[in-house]
Amino acid sequence: MKTLLVTGGAGFIGGNFVLDLLAQGGFRVVNLDKLTYAGNLDTLAPLKANPDHVFVQGDIGDKVLVERLLAEHQPDAIVNFAAESHVDRSIDGPAEFVQTNVVGTLNLLERALAYWRSQSLERQDAFRFLHVSTDEVYGSLGPLGKFTEETAYAPNSPYSASKAASDHLVRAFHHTYGMPTLTTNCSNNYGPYQFPEKLIPLMIQKALRGEALPVYGDGRNVRDWLYVRDHCRAIQRVLEAGRTGEVYNVGGDSERENIHVVKVICELLDRREPLADGRRRESLITYVKDRPGHDRRYAIDSGKLQRELGWAPQETFESGIERTVQWYLDNQAWCGRVTDGSYRMERLGGA
Ligand code: NAD
Repeated sequence: MKTLLVTGGAGFIGGNFVLDLLAQGGFRVVNLDKLTYAGNLDTLAPLKANPDHVFVQGDIGDKVLVERLLAEHQPDAIVNFAAESHVDRSIDGPAEFVQTNVVGTLNLLERALAYWRSQSLERQDAFRFLHVSTDEVYGSLGPLGKFTEETAYAPNSPYSASKAASDHLVRAFHHTYGMPTLTTNCSNNYGPYQFPEKLIPLMIQKALRGEALPVYGDGRNVRDWLYVRDHCRAIQRVLEAGRTGEVYNVGGDSERENIHVVKVICELLDRREPLADGRRRESLITYVKDRPGHDRRYAIDSGKLQRELGWAPQETFESGIERTVQWYLDNQAWCGRVTDGSYRMERLGGA
């Protein structure tokens, strides 16, 4: 039985990771999450009676709490998902991003270092600190080329700048103190349990209600899309077999323009749930003023992860988006509780 301290495990990717891991058996998860607006205990409802899941509401920046959790649970690894993750919010208020993504990660690293040093040599060798990051740290691409692990960092938003800073700290803890760290930089994720401020769940929800579908700029910005469970499998693979001190890029080989993504969602929903008034959902697309500093294109080369660790995505964009649309249709109760805010009541002791 391996014990993992997972941070941010009530969020989108962390939640999927914890659910997938515990479904496999052989793992115990201590899930540390602050439950910001992005943390949702509804996602973890299937684990309510699972003795291998310990949920702790708290901040990765809380020295005493992190120290206590490490001492009490003696984890074999730490997987750090906790972050402020929404680019638009980082434009409106960068300070919170620096606080959690940089200062919080530094605290986690410092506490992890002290814990790691206190372990036997055998446990030190086996320990891993895996930091989950984004391809946005590499900046924007022209029409050609892909980000590799050697691409120079050039973050363009407060979000990506804060993630870049945290990646550098993780790297420094390996090179300076010899801590067994791993970093994964992943492209855009989509799939079940994503907070509906992000492109795909936002468009699904609005399109279902027959509302205008706001698309930034000319809609031709390109992102590489990865189904979230493929990302979770990649993280687990890196945790098990990645070389410490290394960085692994994770991507879906699925570059799509934003406007294409929105049109596919419209088509899938028109087929499954036609609008009562017979309108085609594509007619709801409305172009809005572009996001400031909007990166034009991201594309990621995940060849290293594929060659060294034998990982490959199982979903194509077409299969993954179909699953995702179906998941949102089947889980309108989860979505409804996010939209009306009642998902936040549970932590306050409400219904
Ligand atoms: P999310 O916003 O859905 O979840 C973040 C979680 O972290 C939430 O549950 C939140 O409550 C928690 N959290 C925030 N601040 C915290 C703090 N100070 N202490 C403890 N918990 C805190 O984010 P996500 O989309 O699941 O992303 C998870 C990680 O993966 C992030 O580090 C993000 O940068 C990275 N990432 C995301 C994507 C993507 O497409 N979503 C792609 C690549 C990398």
